[in-house]
Amino acid sequence: MSSDGAAPVTTKPLLTVNGLVKQFPIRGGLLSRVVDRVHAVDGVSFHIEKGETLGLVGESGCGKSTTGRCILRLIEPTSGEVWFEGKDVAAMGKNELRAVARDMQIIFQDPFASLNPRMTVGAIIGEALVIHGLAANRRALEARVVELLERVGLQPDHMRRFPHEFSGGQRQRIGIARALAVEPKLIVCDEPVSALDVSIQAQVINLLEDLQEQFGLTYLFIAHDLSVVEHISTRVAVMYLGRIVEIATAHDLYTNPKHPYTEALLSAVPIPDPSVKRKRVMLQGDVPNPINPPTGCHFHTRCPIRQLPLCANEKPELKTGANGHAVACHLRST
Ligand code: SF4
Repeated sequence: MSSDGAAPVTTKPLLTVNGLVKQFPIRGGLLSRVVDRVHAVDGVSFHIEKGETLGLVGESGCGKSTTGRCILRLIEPTSGEVWFEGKDVAAMGKNELRAVARDMQIIFQDPFASLNPRMTVGAIIGEALVIHGLAANRRALEARVVELLERVGLQPDHMRRFPHEFSGGQRQRIGIARALAVEPKLIVCDEPVSALDVSIQAQVINLLEDLQEQFGLTYLFIAHDLSVVEHISTRVAVMYLGRIVEIATAHDLYTNPKHPYTEALLSAVPIPDPSVKRKRVMLQGDVPNPINPPTGCHFHTRCPIRQLPLCANEKPELKTGANGHAVACHLRST
């Protein structure tokens, strides 16, 4: 059984994250000394097989987006390993990093903020092609941009327009075309539909699924809502205050959740069939401050089944059971 709570690994994973830690220093005083630290990511481990989608879910501020950005080195990890195709991205120098940057792309949450308003759509999509030397000349560049626009459901003449001329859903399609331009292997989808209307969300998720099938893409799909990742994910990892508390196949997690936090998140997901009733689990209080997270199990201050002093004193390890279902809880096992 693998150590990150997933199914037994028969082939080499495309991505393996091992003990990833990210702390943001807080500076204060006249000398701007480090006075405290935000514990954003607190020893996260998982792997993603080629061609699968790992959903990474948790409330705002739980460290999921920081995890995604550390994998791409958009944020420098404090410690830990990020193995991509057999090489540790976290330990790479600038030149080596540039070589793998093409293989790992990101789609951002806010399609309004992530596109340069002064650049045409053609220039936005073509930029990476130019940087990586993937177009022999201007004509080849335009042809590739047109091809990408059509792949994401936009029109060739959209290349001459500016981002403000598009709706939120169309802008996210532009962001997807930009990520696809360099033919990546892994795409970190950082809450790609959270800023969109519900009616548009399904269209963008369907597009991502089609592209995955067409190009054999691998996704880390970050979301704060379990209902969003249910359909697209092969497996789902649930995060709470910088730690992964449960990982399972999407089916296992939705039908047989083990961690009390996953149960609470799931209880808030609407069920389309009104005859099926699910008991709503209301959590007490807010997510604690990541500057000073609770001792032991981070969730013990809100857990409806906590056992004191055990849960406040001892950190539960993520333990893997049947079908690779893993849970970090003293009282629950798989
Ligand atoms: Fe709740 Fe204790 Fe399990 Fe944490 S370890 S989830 S506090 S029962």
